Amino acid sequence: MHAQRRPFVGGNWKMNSDLASGVELTDAVLASLAEGGLEGRIDAAVFPPFPYLFTVGRTLGHSNVLLGGQDCSAEASGAFTGQVSVGMLADVGCRSVIIGHSERRHGLGEDDELLHEKLAIASEAGLVAVLCVGETLSERDDGRAEAVVAHQMRGCFGTLKPETVDRVVVAYEPVWAIGTGRTASPEDAQRMHSSIRAVLGQLYDSRFAAKARVIYGGSVNAKNARAIFDQPDVDGGLIGGASLKADDFASICRAAAEAWTASGGH
Ligand code: PEP
Repeated sequence: MHAQRRPFVGGNWKMNSDLASGVELTDAVLASLAEGGLEGRIDAAVFPPFPYLFTVGRTLGHSNVLLGGQDCSAEASGAFTGQVSVGMLADVGCRSVIIGHSERRHGLGEDDELLHEKLAIASEAGLVAVLCVGETLSERDDGRAEAVVAHQMRGCFGTLKPETVDRVVVAYEPVWAIGTGRTASPEDAQRMHSSIRAVLGQLYDSRFAAKARVIYGGSVNAKNARAIFDQPDVDGGLIGGASLKADDFASICRAAAEAWTASGGH
């Protein structure tokens, strides 16, 4: 953590929960965050499945926890069966959206060109866009991890202006660490986060890069979160499996708040 950047911790529920258990989880997350005095100390977000957004948003009420979609269309409206626009997300109370999760890049073939368009439309709509980047295991084994991620960053940000993307949060999610129980070591995460920040410096400038939040995702849990968050270029996490248990998610939020306090942030 770095004192200059407020931590961001997001819970990506993926295609899990049903309506009742999603509401229960939201209530429990709010209670755990309040109990730990965490609400307001960090930026926390939940990303439920589309059909539950409205109800989960109502459950969040006026809390500081952001509601977010797990994806958005690159189009504003029209004949795009099955897609959800950024306007629709905003309409049901979303203030954030995940873009380019590896389950969409690799499972559904979304490429950097499409993700660039999604990043543009989400940013222009004022949403906090959580842009996921990350290498596969074979790319890491070939020693190409940093080059692959830099290429994804350049393709996704492209020509977008700094004022358009000033709310973007970059999530470094090594594909081999997602849902596998394997995490990047804190040192490997730090190396990649620093390299991502360097790319942001080249794309924009050092002030922009110093301000931008770069979070880590990939099998983060209540036990390993603090060591990862203690790295100077890690500004929080995108959490899958562990976000489905309110106490674990709150513990990860607490680890982020404590790491930030230890770095001098408040
Ligand atoms: C994710 O889906 O973004 C993720 C990081 O999942 P998990 O924490 O389960 O590895």
